[in-house]
Amino acid sequence: MSTILIKNGQIVTATDDYVADILVQDGRVHTIGKEIEVGADIPVHDASGLLVLPGGVDVHTHLEFNFGDFETIDDFETGTRSAAFGGTTTLVDFCNQGDKTPMDALEGWHKRAEKACVDVSAHVILNKVDDEALAQMRGLIHDEGISSFKLFTAYPGIFMVDDAGLFKAMRQARDNNAMICVHAENGGVIEVLIQEALAAGHTGPKYHEATRPSIMEGEATQRVITISELAEAPVYIVHLSASEALDAVTRARDRGVPVFAETCPHYLFLDKQEYERPGFEAAKFVMTPPLRECSHQHDLWRGLKTDDLQVISTDHCPFCFHEQPNGILYSKQQGVDNFNKIPNGAPGVETRLPLVFDGGVHKHQMSINRFVQLTATAPAKLFGLFPRKGTIAVGSDADIVIFDPNQKWTIKAEQQHSKIDYTLFEGKEIMGKVRKVFLGGRLIVEEGTWHGKRGMGKFVKRGNAGKI
Ligand SMILES: [Zn+2]
Repeated sequence: MSTILIKNGQIVTATDDYVADILVQDGRVHTIGKEIEVGADIPVHDASGLLVLPGGVDVHTHLEFNFGDFETIDDFETGTRSAAFGGTTTLVDFCNQGDKTPMDALEGWHKRAEKACVDVSAHVILNKVDDEALAQMRGLIHDEGISSFKLFTAYPGIFMVDDAGLFKAMRQARDNNAMICVHAENGGVIEVLIQEALAAGHTGPKYHEATRPSIMEGEATQRVITISELAEAPVYIVHLSASEALDAVTRARDRGVPVFAETCPHYLFLDKQEYERPGFEAAKFVMTPPLRECSHQHDLWRGLKTDDLQVISTDHCPFCFHEQPNGILYSKQQGVDNFNKIPNGAPGVETRLPLVFDGGVHKHQMSINRFVQLTATAPAKLFGLFPRKGTIAVGSDADIVIFDPNQKWTIKAEQQHSKIDYTLFEGKEIMGKVRKVFLGGRLIVEEGTWHGKRGMGKFVKRGNAGKI
C-alpha cells in the first residue's frame, strides 16, 4: 500500500496538541516527527493552520435497520459515505436479533455491511435473552469480536426485555469482558400513556414527546444501574436525554460504579419546542427519547464537562419526511394519522463532529482534547477499538481528519450525503469544517469530493469493552 505525508498540521488527540508531520505507511501511522523528508513521488498533504484529528468513532447508528413495518433509508454504502463526509471513519452499528438467533442475525448484518465505505463493527441487540442467546454471547465475544450488546427496557412486544433477562445478560457480559448497552425508558408505563393519548384523539406528532416523560427515562436508568451493580457489570446508557437519567448516572459514578453514558447532538442543541411546528413538520423530530425541555440541555453540557457523560454519538436512524417511491417503509408519513406509527429516529451521522466542535469548543469552553475524547477516543476505548482507532499514534490506523476550525458554513439537507431528505439542523451556521478525510491512509474525502469506494470499509473485530 501507499505512503503519504501529512505536513505541518496541529495534531490533536485526547491528550496532545502539537504541530508535526505524520508519515503514513501501509494504512497505519508510521512516524510522527518534525520536518520528515520524503521522495518526490510521495503525496504530501499540507495541513498548515489546520487541525489533524483522529477519525471520528460513532458507536450508535442504525443502517439498513429493519424493525416491523419500518426500515431506515440509509444502507451501508450511503450511511458510511455520509459518515465519512462528516469526519467519522468508524461506526459501531446495531445488528438486530429480531426473530433469529444472535449468531444468524450477525451473519445477515455482515452481508449488508459488505458495502461499507468506512470501518464498521456491530453491537448485537438481544430481544430474547434465553439460554441459547446467553450461550451464543460467548461465541460472539470471543470468536466474532462483538464485545457489546444492546438491550431495551422500552418498546414492549418488540425489543423490551424484563429485568431478569437484563440481569442474566449483564452477568454473561461481565464474565467475558463485554458490556451491555441499554435503551432505558419505562416501556410499560409509556405504552399506557400512548394508548390513553390515542383514545383521547391526540394523534399528532407532539404526543410522541408527551407520552415519554423524562422521569420515566430517569426511573429506568436508575433501575438498570441498580441491576448492573448487583451483577457487578459495567453498563452503558445509550442516548441519554434527561436530567433525571443523568442524575442517576452521576450518583452511581460518584460511588465508583462503572456506569457510562452517551448523549447525542440533538439533545444538546434542540428542545421540545420543535414539536410545536405546524402541520406534520414536527414528525421530523420524532426520535426516542424525544427532545426535552431546555433545562435538560444545560444539565447535559454540565455532564460532558464533569465526565458523567463520556461519549457523544448520533443515533443516526434516518426515515425520510416525504413518502418514498420505493415504499412507505422509509417514511415518517406512515404516522400521519397516528403519532405511534411514526418511525422513531432522525439523521445525524454527517453533522456530529462540526456541530460538537462549534457548540462545544467555540461556544461552551470545551477543550479541543475533550472534543476528540468525546467523539473518538472514549468510544474507541469503551468498545474495544483503542488504540487502533480513536487516536493518532505510531501504529494506529491512519484514519485521519484534516479540519479547519475557523471555516464557516451552513447545514443544508441538500448538501448532505445521506439518502435522507431533511436534517434536524437546517440553516444552522457552523464554524469548523471537515476538509480531508483519510481511511487507513487512503484519501476518501477531499474538500467535499468523494474519492472512496463502496466496500472499502473493513469489519473490525473488537477487544474487551467496558473500561476507559
Ligand atoms: Zn438508536
